[in-house]
Amino acid sequence: MTYTNMLDKSREALATQASRFANFLAHHGARRPGVASALLLGTGLAVGIGGGIAGNLSLRAQVEQQQAQIEATRADAQREINALAARLGELQAEANRLNALGERLTRIGQLQDGEFDFNKPVGVGGTGEVEDMPKAELDSGLAQLDAQFEASGEQLSVLESLLFNRQLDMNAVPSREPIDSYITSNYGGRADPIRGGRAFHKGIDFEADVGDPVMAVADGVVSFSGRRSGYGNTIEIDHGNGYVTRYAHNSRLERKVGSLVRAGQEIAKAGSTGRSTGAHVHFEVWKNGAAVNPKQFLQQQSPLRG
Ligand SMILES: [Zn+2]
Repeated sequence: MTYTNMLDKSREALATQASRFANFLAHHGARRPGVASALLLGTGLAVGIGGGIAGNLSLRAQVEQQQAQIEATRADAQREINALAARLGELQAEANRLNALGERLTRIGQLQDGEFDFNKPVGVGGTGEVEDMPKAELDSGLAQLDAQFEASGEQLSVLESLLFNRQLDMNAVPSREPIDSYITSNYGGRADPIRGGRAFHKGIDFEADVGDPVMAVADGVVSFSGRRSGYGNTIEIDHGNGYVTRYAHNSRLERKVGSLVRAGQEIAKAGSTGRSTGAHVHFEVWKNGAAVNPKQFLQQQSPLRG
């Protein structure tokens, strides 16, 4: 039963009652005023009859007043329903925009996934004359829209993670320097700076001051964050395609294991912890479990490099 029907029904019921009541009054009061007057004339109870007629009139007025109130309530309720209907129209437009966005993202990402269907029919707000909307229709419209938003939301979040992974791939090859500085020691055989003699240097050293920002060279996930023997405070980032980068001797670590990091994002503050003669950034690149010369990557220009 719609809201309007309910109101109409109760108004009908009230009107029936009112007319019954009016009949009753007419029967026992107004219809036979003569008889009543004749019987009761001079008894002083004429006041009572007068009161009955007055009561009749006041009851009629009351019924009319109640009907007016019901009408006003009904109009108020309908106004609210119409306002909600307008809001529904806005939400439907919003849903259309979301779908268009999803469609565009799918096209840009060239995602051939069958699970994305942004072309499902969508309820469109009418352009015809404005009419009162039954509440039931409004309810079903809202429920439908709700389901639609939920479906779109799920699709968009899957889409977002797919696009993120794709960008991760593009941006996951080490291709920028971990600190805005210059190289003080290269990869390969060199004289050990502490013990003397020959030693193999598995990374590149960059000049740094304590507290200088150390940045991720590519997108990835932090796979180690803590102390490592000889390396001091160390962060390692897994870039997901066989590459892992290591940043050592930091004074402070700013990312925990499992953190998602973007290329160029600060991950630590430079320092001189571990086996170190002074503040610097020791940077390693590992590919499929073996340390490689980072220089080959640093010389690459990433298309995403700022
Ligand atoms: Zn080093």
